[in-house]
Amino acid sequence: MISQELLGILVCPACKGDLQYEQEPERLICRACQLAYQVKDDIPIMLAEEAEHLKEPREGQAGPEGDAAGDS
Ligand SMILES: [Zn+2]
Repeated sequence: MISQELLGILVCPACKGDLQYEQEPERLICRACQLAYQVKDDIPIMLAEEAEHLKEPREGQAGPEGDAAGDS
């Protein structure tokens, strides 16, 4: 369990925005970046490269699939 004091000073390393604490599973969410920062041994891993991307399933962002255009 992370202390409220620590949560109060933690910000997203990418956008410096507020983080949302989730207990199950324990992680810190940045809504702006759509990133979930892992918590290991009560220590938040504040690294964007270690964070998990929260993909909104309805959001159809450009992906590699379905692109039949050949590049030469
Ligand atoms: Zn962020």
